[in-house]
Amino acid sequence: MAESSKPIFYVTTPIYYVNDVPHIGHAYTTIIADALARFKRLSGEDVFFLTGTDEHGQKVEKAATERGLKPLEHVDQMVVRFKDLWKALNISYDFFIRTTQPIHEKGVQKIFKKLKDKGDIYKGTYKGWYCVSDENFLAEDVPLEEEGYKICPDCGKKANVVSEECYFFKLSAYQKPLLEFYAKNPTFVRPQSRMNEVTSFCRQGLKDLSITRTTVKWGIPVSDDPEHTIYVWFDALHNYLTGIGYDWNMERYKKFWPATIHLIGKDILRFHAIFWPAFLMAAGFPLPQTVYGHGWWLKDETKMSKSKGNVLDPNLILKTFGADPLRYFLLREIPIGLDGNFSHEGFLHRVNSDLANDLGNLIHRTLTMIQSYFKGKIEEMDNEESGDRELRLAFEGLKEKAFVLYNEYALNKALEEIWVYINLVNKYLADNEPWKLARDKTKRKRLGRILYQAAAAIRGISYLLFPIMPESSEKIWGFLGEEKGLTEEFFSELKFENLNQEHKIKEHKPLFPRVSLKDFLKEEAAQPHQDKREEKMEYISFDEFKKMDLRVGEVIKAEKVEGTDKLLKLEVDIGTEKRTMVAGMADVYSPEDLIGKKVIVIVNLKPALIRGIESQGMLLAAEVEEKAFLPSFDRDIPSGTKVR
Ligand SMILES: [Zn+2]
Repeated sequence: MAESSKPIFYVTTPIYYVNDVPHIGHAYTTIIADALARFKRLSGEDVFFLTGTDEHGQKVEKAATERGLKPLEHVDQMVVRFKDLWKALNISYDFFIRTTQPIHEKGVQKIFKKLKDKGDIYKGTYKGWYCVSDENFLAEDVPLEEEGYKICPDCGKKANVVSEECYFFKLSAYQKPLLEFYAKNPTFVRPQSRMNEVTSFCRQGLKDLSITRTTVKWGIPVSDDPEHTIYVWFDALHNYLTGIGYDWNMERYKKFWPATIHLIGKDILRFHAIFWPAFLMAAGFPLPQTVYGHGWWLKDETKMSKSKGNVLDPNLILKTFGADPLRYFLLREIPIGLDGNFSHEGFLHRVNSDLANDLGNLIHRTLTMIQSYFKGKIEEMDNEESGDRELRLAFEGLKEKAFVLYNEYALNKALEEIWVYINLVNKYLADNEPWKLARDKTKRKRLGRILYQAAAAIRGISYLLFPIMPESSEKIWGFLGEEKGLTEEFFSELKFENLNQEHKIKEHKPLFPRVSLKDFLKEEAAQPHQDKREEKMEYISFDEFKKMDLRVGEVIKAEKVEGTDKLLKLEVDIGTEKRTMVAGMADVYSPEDLIGKKVIVIVNLKPALIRGIESQGMLLAAEVEEKAFLPSFDRDIPSGTKVR
C-alpha cells in the first residue's frame, strides 16, 4: 500500500505533428517536461511522463501519396525523427503515444459514442471555405481577402464556400460551466496573463464545434457512421487519456488521471483551455490541474518559421555540445511563460561562462587538487571553521529554495540560485587558497577540510542540477567516487555531509570544453541543411545493391494528375518496354519540360497505386526542401542502359 500513498505527478507535452521537422520549439516543451519529471522522481513522487505524435489528417495522407507510400508506412518513417531527437536529448518519457495506435483510436471512438448518445454530439451542416486542390477546409481563422473570398494558406489558390454534413460538439452549452470552473480554479491556466485571455475569449460566447469531416479519409472513423472521420482536435486531445491507459490499462489510467500539468506552446492555448475541459466535462472526466502555456523561441529576435527559413535545428547543437548545454540554455535563459531569444552569441556565452568557467573549472580544480595532494582520498581533516560552516549552511538554504522553485516550475530561478551557490564555492576556494596551504606540511589537515568542503558542495550541486543536466550530473557524481546511483538518493535524504570520505576520486575529464563563436559558426556553415538522420549510415551489401534494377529511360508522355498540384503521370521508355509512373515533381517541372528527357528509373520497385494510377517504377531525383530535381547525363545515353 506504500506505493499508492505517493503523490502523483502526470506531465504531458502536446503530441507533435508527425510531418513537422523537429525543431527547437518541440525540444523546448519536451525538455521542460523532462526536467519536471526528473525532479518529481527525485522527490519520491509517482511520475508519468507522456509525449507522442499526431499522425492523422489530410496533409499526412497527401505527403504519403506523394512519396508513393501508404499513410501508415509514411508516419512509421516520420515518427523516428522525433524518437531519435528525444533519445539524443535524454528525454525520460514513460510512454510515446501515436494517434494511429489502435488503443488510441478505440478510446476516441468510445468517448465520441458516449457524447453522441448523450446528445452533446449531434449531426448538422458545416459551411466553410474549402480548397478544391487540397481537398480540405481552411481553418476558421484564415482571414477574408478584401474582394470577399479566402485564399488557401497551403497552395495559395482561391477557396470556395462549401457545405457538408458533419457532427458538431455542443461547445456552446459549456460556456457557463467553463466560466464557473475558471473562477474556482484561477491557476488552471498559467501564467496568469493567459488565464485572462482564455476567460475573456470564453465570455464572448462559444460556438458549437464541427468535429468530423467526410472529405478527410486518413483518420478515425465514427464507429456507427464511418463516412465521417473524427477531425483533428477531437482526435488529438484525447491522447492524454488513452496515453495513460484509458480503456486498455484502466488501473494505470485511474492512478494518474487527471493530469497534473499539460505543457503547451501558447499558440494552442484555446484548444487546451477551452475545448479540452469542455470535452472532459461532457464525458464526465475530472479536469486537469494546470495547462501551462510557454512562450516561443525567437531566432535573433525574429519568430522562427519554416517560411523564413530560420528554424533552428537542435541536431547541430547536439552534435557539437551534447544534450546538457542545450537543456541548460533553454531552461536558464527565460521563465517558462515568456518568449526567448536564441542567438549563437547568447548560447555560447552561457556555455563558456556559466558551464565551462563557473561550474567546469570548479569541478576540475577541486578534483585535481584532491588527486594530486591526497592521491584521490582525503585521509584526515580539521574541524569545521566558520567559513566552512557558512558554505554548508548556504547549501542547506539552497536546497530548500531549489525544492520550492522546482515545484513552482520556476526552472530558470532554480538555476540562478544554484549558480549563486557555485560562485560562492569558487569564492570560498579563492579566499582559502588551498594551493598555498599545500606547500606547508603543518596545514595538511586544514587543506583536507577545505577540499572536503568543496567536494561536498560539488556533490550537492550535481544532485540539484540533475533534473536539467542529467548526463553531466551523473558524470560528476561518478567522479566523486559515489557507488550508489544519483537517482537512488531521494531529495529528502540529500545532505551536504553525505559525501563519503572513504570513496576515492575517479579520473575525470573537463565536462564543458570552451568553443569559440568563429568555430561554431564555421561548423554550422558546413552543415548541409537537411535531415541529419542521414548521418547514421546504414550500410547495405553489394548483393543488396545489385538487387536494384536501375536503367536509363526516356520520358515520352507527361501530364498532370487531375486535382493535384504536385503529381505528374509519366510514360517512360525503358528500352524493353514502356512504363507508367507517377512522380511528385509538377511543382518543379511542367509536362513539356520532361518530354524527351533522359532519366534514371528503378525498374524493379514494387508497383504502387497512386491516385488510382498504377505507378510501375520510380525516377531517381535529388530532394531539396521537399522539391524533386532530376539528375542529367553529360552525353546521350540510349534508353535501357543499366545504371550501377
Ligand atoms: Zn489549397
